[in-house]
Amino acid sequence: MLNAIITRKAKQEFARAMKFDNGGTPDLTPRDVTKPRLLYIHIPFCEQLCPYCSFHRVVFNESLCRDYHHALRKEIILYRKLGYAFSGVYVGGGTPTVMMEELEETLFLAKQSFPLREMSVETNPNHLTDKNMTALKRIGVNRLSVGIQSFDNRLLKDMDRYEKYGSGEAVAERLLQALGYFDTLNADMMFNFPSQTASILDRDLDILLEIGMDQITYYPLMVSDLTRDTVYKTFGQVNYGKEEQFYHRIVERLVPPYRFSSAWCFSKKAAMIDEYIVDYDEYAGLGSGSVGYLNGMCYANTFDIAKYIAQVARGEMPVMAYRSFSGKDRMRYDFLMKLFGMKLHVPALKEKYGGIFHRVLWLDILAFSLAGGLRYRKPYFYLTKRGCYMWVIMMREFFIAVNNFRDFCRAHAAL
Ligand code: SF4
Repeated sequence: MLNAIITRKAKQEFARAMKFDNGGTPDLTPRDVTKPRLLYIHIPFCEQLCPYCSFHRVVFNESLCRDYHHALRKEIILYRKLGYAFSGVYVGGGTPTVMMEELEETLFLAKQSFPLREMSVETNPNHLTDKNMTALKRIGVNRLSVGIQSFDNRLLKDMDRYEKYGSGEAVAERLLQALGYFDTLNADMMFNFPSQTASILDRDLDILLEIGMDQITYYPLMVSDLTRDTVYKTFGQVNYGKEEQFYHRIVERLVPPYRFSSAWCFSKKAAMIDEYIVDYDEYAGLGSGSVGYLNGMCYANTFDIAKYIAQVARGEMPVMAYRSFSGKDRMRYDFLMKLFGMKLHVPALKEKYGGIFHRVLWLDILAFSLAGGLRYRKPYFYLTKRGCYMWVIMMREFFIAVNNFRDFCRAHAAL
């Protein structure tokens, strides 16, 4: 009952927040250059497309991918000219490692342009070759995140990943060989896929623990409105009761030896790069279909790849839509993201919002505290065990709202 209320409220709230204004150019000039910010770079190319995926991605085309990286490097220069000094870079996709030499050149420019301390790149298991990993390490990548989803061969076949990335056994072997190359090797896993059973989940957890991954991120299945019918027809209904049971099982198996980095990310060591939306208050989104959050403004770059390349070539920011968040929206965003990272430092938010943080969000704080989701121990609010699952629900709905927005923009760009 409570979970259903949180789902409904979160759905309404995020659908409202993702309504962007069209047209106009937002002012992306940094207000305070010393603030730590992240550079997010999106590479929308994949060798083949997975049927359940709601990310902005297209089938890989070599010449388009080259032109795209060329445009990305121009966009990096546009941000450098605005005065940004990013301290970390996160390259997501799609499949960022689909064209390694171009990725290296793009990362090299980012490194030359900004005082980067952290570099994180996403990849797929078929790209975990010695050659690729050596190249990524040489350029300074210290976190590699690998899309695994499951080691179960039947599930991998259902997800259309078995032929592309190999059997669960082959993927586990590749992960073992990749351990030690980077500070953090992360496995992106999925739970609550309709055909996933409790024993499949347990076996996946056994394998992850046996490999000894540095970090494990367990995402719940997130289906956007547009892909819902396809997913339901192909794989079956999504059962949220099963989602809760599976989540608690994951936590029970992983914590300890792992610690929470966020409500769904588990790390072995203390000083590791976690999720950028938790670690950084602001981030720039570069590349087609990227979403950024700067100056209290959420903005999206055009999803039309050809248009993106043409706009950047003219020296224009390729922003297609943006929304300025009200003071209350910004506080709510911080409340959501900080607690997704397990704790919220009250004095820091009081300082950031001139002391009114408590007064504006008292109802949210009270409701989650009464529901047993939050606990206060000076100077922090912490997520309780119950609160962790509440935040999984809210972040699931947050990303579904982002996916719905992406679907809308992709349809607009005739993709
Ligand atoms: S799940 Fe990953 S590999 Fe599959 S289409 Fe989406 S981005 Fe590409």
